[in-house]
Order: sequence, then structure tokens, then C-alpha cells
Amino acid sequence: MAMVKEQFGSLVFDDRVMKASLDGKAYASLKKTIDEGKELDLTVANAVAAAMKDWAVAHGATHYTHWFQPLTGVTAEKHDSFITPAPDGGVIMEFSGKELIKGEPDASSFPSGGLRATFEARGYTAWDPTSYAFIKGKTLCIPTAFCSYGGEALDKKTPLLRSMEALNVQALRILKLFGNDTVKRVTSSVGPEQEYFLVDREMYNKRKDLVYTGRTLFGAKPPKGQEMDDHYFGVIKPRVAAYMEDLNEELWKLGILAKTEHNEVAPAQHELAPIYTTTNIATDHNQLTMEIMQKVAAKHGLVCLLHEKPFAGVNGSGKHNNWSIATDAGQNLLSPGETPYENAQFLLFLCAVIKAVDDYQDLLRISVATAGNDHRLGANEAPPAVVSIFLGDELNAVLEAIENDAPYQGTKKTTMKLGSDVLPKFNRDTTDRNRTSPFAFTGNKFEFRMLGSSNSIACANIMLNTAVAESLKIYADRLEGVTDFETALHDMIKKTIKEHKRIIFNGNGYDDSWIKEATEKRGLCNYRTTADAVPHILDQKNMDMLMSHGVFTEAELKSRYEITLENYCKTVIIEANTMVDMAKKQILPAVSAYAADLAESVGKKLALGTDIACKYEKEAVKKLSILCDKIDEATDALEDALVKIKSAEDIGEESEMIRDTVLAAMSELRVVCDEAETMTAEKYWPFPTYGDLLFGVR
Ligand code: ADP
Ligand code: MG
Repeated sequence: MAMVKEQFGSLVFDDRVMKASLDGKAYASLKKTIDEGKELDLTVANAVAAAMKDWAVAHGATHYTHWFQPLTGVTAEKHDSFITPAPDGGVIMEFSGKELIKGEPDASSFPSGGLRATFEARGYTAWDPTSYAFIKGKTLCIPTAFCSYGGEALDKKTPLLRSMEALNVQALRILKLFGNDTVKRVTSSVGPEQEYFLVDREMYNKRKDLVYTGRTLFGAKPPKGQEMDDHYFGVIKPRVAAYMEDLNEELWKLGILAKTEHNEVAPAQHELAPIYTTTNIATDHNQLTMEIMQKVAAKHGLVCLLHEKPFAGVNGSGKHNNWSIATDAGQNLLSPGETPYENAQFLLFLCAVIKAVDDYQDLLRISVATAGNDHRLGANEAPPAVVSIFLGDELNAVLEAIENDAPYQGTKKTTMKLGSDVLPKFNRDTTDRNRTSPFAFTGNKFEFRMLGSSNSIACANIMLNTAVAESLKIYADRLEGVTDFETALHDMIKKTIKEHKRIIFNGNGYDDSWIKEATEKRGLCNYRTTADAVPHILDQKNMDMLMSHGVFTEAELKSRYEITLENYCKTVIIEANTMVDMAKKQILPAVSAYAADLAESVGKKLALGTDIACKYEKEAVKKLSILCDKIDEATDALEDALVKIKSAEDIGEESEMIRDTVLAAMSELRVVCDEAETMTAEKYWPFPTYGDLLFGVR
């Protein structure tokens, strides 16, 4: 294996390559574009394109593509080769600045949620120079944004970039108030921890539910699950270790900072965490990571399951979005500082996040809403669907002291007056490891833990960035121009704590009593399903906020509402159809065949003599036959439910019918099928069991 150092980023057109392959002027102007968003002129674009092409061809590439993130949640690409016919009958390899900057894929098959009805049908892709181009297979991939000709975002990158800009603008205003005039840019960073399952490919291929839906729709509980806690951080099995090694290598070549890997709680569950980076790049990298995870798995005879709940009865998979904001000088604004003044600034940013999460808890919940993630959030698995913030005891005590103008009972007993020299110094590492909180402060960053394992992290970060930008804007509006800054600041922090402390919860988020308290006493939102949550994206306060920062237009928000619910409905319908298919064509025939064979053996045995009762067989045949009838009935009921949703007037109504009838009918069908599995002889069962799948990779 090549040395990691040499290998790292070898397939990326990164700063090292740019510097080496562009002349000084072109390089400087490209850097300006990357760092400051200055427009690139066409001569420079041509030079960059030529350098990219030469580099890519030297690395074996034959094609290029604009690589983008449509609203399907996965990435899209359309490959064009570099070849151009030459007069001598041969070809030359060409790539122009125009082709680099703008592409025109046929957008008509991507979801647009009505945007195309009102606007131009075709869309275009535009180069995002802040994320490096890279080579995948034989193709040079150019990260791009995807818009309609009317300028509406048809993707997740565009609003993400807008949200980062909104946060930058408002954070700079705040920093100025603290006398920080040299900062040019404030950027949010993310380190997403990614959970996944690995199963054997041959077994996977035998299960239609995994193939069509990414999760098991049937499956009796195996004798062993995760109750022994022997998998978490356990020794990694050789086949999995070989996979991880290969995966790291592929990710490193793409410049992805894969850092940590370990076994997770459930059998066959694992986690990969990269080192954090700029949100936009972290998002691109996470999309790539999910893709490469699946590709590398195929090479190892495995399948990587990114579904949020591939197996009932053991933990599902999530993604932890570790988020912070920092200046271009490298100062982390969520890090408690050394001086009282820095601490005051830290407290203001902290309050901005607290206020944002409370005011826009619904948007955060919506940003992670999918049919898959509904099996985790609010479904007896943490985190709950209720958003709350964990701060840890020390920080909590500080906020309480400020709120009550009371002495702070920390290391020093002192009254909290911001900006004066009496503010205590916080320790960094006093944060507990509260694993149940959906949104936890972990020393110098927040960890948003509600994301599903297959979610694009773009959505969560769009909402987080913009909501925090909104808090900062309100603060800056109030603080700019006041004569007594310190008093105004102190009052404002106090006001935030008073008004938003209901969102702070340091206890166990799994507890039923918490859900009761959260909803009944504190008035927090508890949107258990996607169908409950998503309509609130169109609440006036949410639309106003997102539009005022230029992150979404009204049409874009309506399109997201449509697409998210459409996606929810389609996902569940495919699952339901798969269940019907498996029940009718696999499960019923298997159970019935087993019952028939047992019955036949009863006949044979009885012929041997009257003293043979065949009690066991007769009883089993009876039970199995009753179960067959129940399965048949439950299948009919599910089919009926599927027919009824066709009468829904709109996507909102359809999603509610799915939530209330289809999902319930699916559960009922599953119960009887799983019961039949426990009673059917192994060799009759038509597909691999939970035990096979969860313990089959060694
Ligand atoms: P855990 O104990 O939850 O696994 P770690 O400290 O190992 O937490 O970090 C998890 C993730 O958080 C990693 O991706 C790491 O790079 C990222 N991270 C660390 N510091 C920051 C930060 N300041 N901003 C954003 N992400 C960060
Ligand atoms: Mg974590």
C-alpha cells in the first residue's frame, strides 16, 4: 500500500495541484474566487479547465461530469467524454472554461415539487469552486449547484451555500460589536459521524425487502440481539477490518479525512467519523462517503446498509452532525475563551444557538424527516422526536446565575456581570457524555444527533445555519448603536435565558416522563412522524425567517414541502407493495407447504397404528393453518389500505392516510408473518433470517 501521506488527496484537484499546474496570475485569481466568491473571468476559467483536464487525463480519466445534489437526496452525474474529433480522423481531449462553469443536464426527471410547472423546465448546473473537483472511476467530477433557469434552487447545495453566507453576514456584525474588525469571514464547520450496517451480499440478494427498500420488513427476533453489549467498540472481525481498510484508502484518495472507525451497539453495525471541515465540503464529502461505502462493500461481497432502521429490535443508524462556527483566523466562536471579554462573546454565540434551536425546533425536526428516520425518532429509540439542548452542569450553572443575578456557585463565587472581570473561566472538558440528547453541547461544538444515517446533512445544516443567523441578526439589531454595550449585552443574554430555557434539558431524553414534561409543561413540539412535521415548513414564521435571509424563496419552500412528503409516501408505498409480494409469493407458500408436509406425515403415521396420536403435528398444522389465514387477511387489509390512499386529494392528505392506515396495516401483517417464522421449520423458510443477517459476516 502506498504511504497514506502520498495517497491522501491523490484524486483531488486541490490547492497543491492548482498551484503546480496554473501560472501565478491564474492561480491567484482562482484563489480569490474560492476564498472570497469573486467571479472568475473566462480566460482564467479556460486555463483552469485545461489544467484540470490535463491532470485528470494523466490520472486515467476519460470523462467529466458536473456532480450535483438534486432533491432526491442522492448525488447525480451525467458523464461527457473529453474527446473532440480532430481533422486527421483522430480525437483530441478538450475541456473548456465554459464547460467547467456551466452545465445543462436534462433536469426534467428530477423532482422539482412544482417549480418546473411555474418556471422554465430545464435546469443548469453551476460550478462551486469552494469544493475541489475530484476523480471517481474514470470521471472528473466537478461539484456544482443545480438551479432552474428562473434561478430557483433545484438542489441542496444552493440553499446550503446561501445559509452559510447568511450566518457569515450576521456573525460578522456581532464580532464587530466586540471590536473584532480584522475578521473577514465566519464559516460553519461540520464533522458528521456516520453509522451503517454490513451484511453478506448473497444473503442480501435473497431478501426482496432489503433489495427494494433497504430494510427488513419481516423477521422474527433471533435468540441473540444486542443485549450482551458485546459488539460496541468490540474487536473488529477480519472481513469487516479488511473492508474498513479498503474504505479508508478510497476515501483518503478523495481527500476525505476518514479518522475514526469502530463497531456500534447493534451486531453488524459500525461507525465512521471524518475530521470536521467546512460545512459545504463536509456535505459533499459525506455524500461521497456514503457512495464509496457501498461501492467498497460490493468488492468485499458485502452490502452496506445506510437505512435508518434496517432491523427491528436492535438499534437503528443515525448521523451525528458536530457543528461549530469559526473565524477565518481560526477562532472557534463556540469555544469558551481565556478572557472575560472572550467569554462574553462566547456566551452570546451560545445564547444565539439556544434561541435558534428553541424558536426553530420544528425546522430542525423537519430537516431530518424521512420515512426511514421515523422509525428512530419518537419510536422507542433515541433521540426522541422532541428537540432539546443538553448543556452540561457547569454551563447550566453559569446560565442560571446570569438569569437570577445570583452568585455563580462554580469554582469562584462571584456575581455574573458580563464584560467585567468577574466572569469565571470555563473548563472545556466538563461536558458529560449525555448520549440521549438530540442537541448536545460538547465543549466547543454542538452535536445534532437527530439526523438519519441516509440523510444528506445539507438540510439540517441549512436550518441550523439560518436559524442561528436569525438570532444573531436580532442581537445585532439590538446592540448596534447602544451607548452602554455591556449592560445591553448582559440584559439580552439574561432575556434569552429566561425566554428559552424551556429548550434546555440535561436529563435522560429516552424517558417517557420527559416527553410528557416537554410537551405538556414546556410546550415543545413533538412531531412523531414526517407527515406531522413537514407541513410546518410552510408556517408563516418559518417561511418569513428563511426568506428574510435569502435562503429559500416561497416557491422553493413549497417545492420542498411537496417533495419531502412525496418521498415519504413513495417510500412507504414501495415497502407496502414489497410486503404484499413477499407475503403472497414467499411466506404463505412456505408456511402452507410446511403445514401440508406435516399433515401428510400425520396421515402416514396414523396408517401405522391406532396408538399413534400425532398430537404435536396435528396441533402444529392447526396453528400454521390459522396463521396462514391471518396472513392472508392481513395482506388483503394492506392491499385495501393501498387502494384507499388513491382517493387522497393532495399530498398532505395522502401522507396522513399513509401514517394512519398503511403503516398500521404493515405492522399487523408483520406480526403474523414473524409469528409464522418462529413456527416454520428452517429449511422451509424462504429467505435468510435475522440471525443469519446480523451474525453472518465474520
Ligand atoms: P464523539 O465522542 O461523539 O465520537 P469526537 O470528539 O470524536 O466525538 O468528534 C466527533 C466529530 O466531531 C468528529 O468528526 C470531529 O472531527 C468533529 N469535531 C471536533 N471538533 C469540532 C468542531 N470544532 N467543529 C465541528 N466538528 C468538530
Ligand atoms: Mg458523537
